[in-house]
Amino acid sequence: MRRIVFTGFRGTGKTEVGKIVAGKLNLPFIDTDSQIEQVTGRSIPDIFHEEGEERFRTIERQVIAGLPAQDVVISTGGGAVVNPVNMVHLRRKSVMVLLYADIDTIEKRMSSKPRPPLTGLPLREEIAEMMDRRRQHYHAAADICIDTSITTPAAAADTVIRTLNTGTTTEDNRKVAIAFFRTGRINPVALKKLCDILTGKDRDPLTRIMGVAGYPAAHSRSPALYNALFEKYGINCHYTFFEDPELDEIIRVARQLDARGLSVTIPFKQDAMKYLDEVDEHAARQIGAVNTVVFACGSAIGYNTDWLGVRKPLISLKGSDAVLLGAGGVATAAAYALADLDMKVTILNRNAGRAKILAERFGCSYGGLGDLDQLRPDLIVNATPLGMNPDDHSPLTDDHLREGMTVFDLVYTPPETPLILQARRLGCKTITGIEMFVEQAKEQFYLFFGIDVPEQTIRELVA
Ligand code: NAP
Repeated sequence: MRRIVFTGFRGTGKTEVGKIVAGKLNLPFIDTDSQIEQVTGRSIPDIFHEEGEERFRTIERQVIAGLPAQDVVISTGGGAVVNPVNMVHLRRKSVMVLLYADIDTIEKRMSSKPRPPLTGLPLREEIAEMMDRRRQHYHAAADICIDTSITTPAAAADTVIRTLNTGTTTEDNRKVAIAFFRTGRINPVALKKLCDILTGKDRDPLTRIMGVAGYPAAHSRSPALYNALFEKYGINCHYTFFEDPELDEIIRVARQLDARGLSVTIPFKQDAMKYLDEVDEHAARQIGAVNTVVFACGSAIGYNTDWLGVRKPLISLKGSDAVLLGAGGVATAAAYALADLDMKVTILNRNAGRAKILAERFGCSYGGLGDLDQLRPDLIVNATPLGMNPDDHSPLTDDHLREGMTVFDLVYTPPETPLILQARRLGCKTITGIEMFVEQAKEQFYLFFGIDVPEQTIRELVA
């Protein structure tokens, strides 16, 4: 049973290569643009010209939703992957092949074909602009990635078929990876499953590995969440624990395995930056840490979704007076989120010198933990680990809290921390660390796979 979906920018050869692959595998071939022309009885330039791009995208969504579920090769329009609902339909039990080419090649190929313009820009500038805008979406659709700039369609098709048979890594690399995973603290059942996926006799070479990179990592809820989401959306991936004291070692194994991506946790969020080929604007320039690494087409691209996880539950408190406890990795993302919500922020930390450094980066005030006695904030955000251990107490005394104020504890194991219980008892509004976990995971899954998972689905899966 096979479903192969070609994606990529215009002029990368999706239709030509897709047809050859379909012919060689004896599978039917569907080009979604041709289907749109068939169902509407009009050419795509005519649809764009008469009814605009939005109408075209609506018809495209309907066509994609109605595609057969199996035994087919599909070529999609260049912008189809941008829509997360399309990605749900395209990803289900499919292998997604991204074709790409350099801008000179695309310009040359496109100048000979009538295509509806997507912007008012001249052709070359339009290509650069649209490739840049869609880059993240193409990466989310790149199970197999092939550069068609200097290859013929027949050679590209051969590479696709070869990769479909062998996968994107070698037998030796899989064996080396198993030796690495044995040194981590994966439970025996999970380790056996991982070994079967990597080297078992019935293994599927196209199953991609990804995981949480940390030390420790064994406490993470991400493997259970991701593997449940893979099941739900029919994605051929397995998520595991990349636990090692050396980030170097984790990245080496991830690259050897051609891992789909990594969620990065303590203590590697800052160090991970130096292994990246690209970083997004928020992670790189502002926060200086990543929690998400997407591997696509030979590159490692870093993002930070932690700050979005802090920001979303606090949107209604825009402009508040806030105190942030802690000045570590998560506090940095939190400080960025609070500043982004125009809050007046005071950062308090056990080591006040660290609070000062962080405060100066984001234009906040700072102090030691004792300085909370003098403050009367609307919001307190705990970004210290206090509350994680069974014998931990709340970082606050009852005097620090008053009815009506909001307390957001970023600690999420356990969900009901001493601070949350204390704040509830004193009539505060409370937000648990699960809310941050849900939001950051939702954004992360979107970066990895282009699918917008409903918050409620994630909440149910982590409950
Ligand atoms: P980190 O970089 O190690 O920073 C820890 C911060 O907490 C530092 O400012 C440290 O102060 C302070 N701290 C540590 N122990 C303390 C203590 N006993 N008393 C007072 N302050 C103390 O850790 P992180 O990566 O920022 O993670 C912090 C917490 O965020 C984690 O433990 C986790 O519970 C939570 N988290 C939640 C999510 C989520 O999705 N909800 C995601 C990631 C992390 P010093 O500078 O003085 O050492």
